[in-house]
Amino acid sequence: MPDHSSPTSAPSHTLAALRAEAVASVGRVGITDAEFAREERLLREQSGGEASPGDVLWALTTRAIERYTRARDWDGAGLVYLAQARWLHAHEPAADYRESLRLAHSAAVLDIQKRKHHARVAVEGKRCCPACAELDGAEYSFARAVEEGPIPNAACELPWCKCTWRGVAPEKRRRAR
Ligand SMILES: [Zn+2]
Repeated sequence: MPDHSSPTSAPSHTLAALRAEAVASVGRVGITDAEFAREERLLREQSGGEASPGDVLWALTTRAIERYTRARDWDGAGLVYLAQARWLHAHEPAADYRESLRLAHSAAVLDIQKRKHHARVAVEGKRCCPACAELDGAEYSFARAVEEGPIPNAACELPWCKCTWRGVAPEKRRRAR
């Protein structure tokens, strides 16, 4: 039974809801309920106690990212980074979700580069906020986009920056930097 005397333990119904959300969240990136349960058991054994749904999600997604990165599957890695960013944003306000979101965007850049249809990338910022609209259309080489990671935009006025990268075809040389 959950120990409600500890100030750090959530009421069991909240914990069950949080666990369900974590299971659904990793499910969207191809990690099964069984894998979640197995990891949960393993972490409990290792710590000799609790394994929070967030800890289980983090362990599973971090390994998935390592797998995708080794396979140079940037599309796959990007989706998992995005799942991590969404989880932090929704459940761990003290953590900085922006770093995970930036890694998701960097993976998207590497994916665009790998597909070889585009010469560079540009910020798609029209659908976000006035600050991001100013960044809209700014072009970056693949290397600079990854190195500088300008999105999510630090100046974004929304709680979640909606800027993304889009590929720029070789013949369209506008505002190249
Ligand atoms: Zn914005």
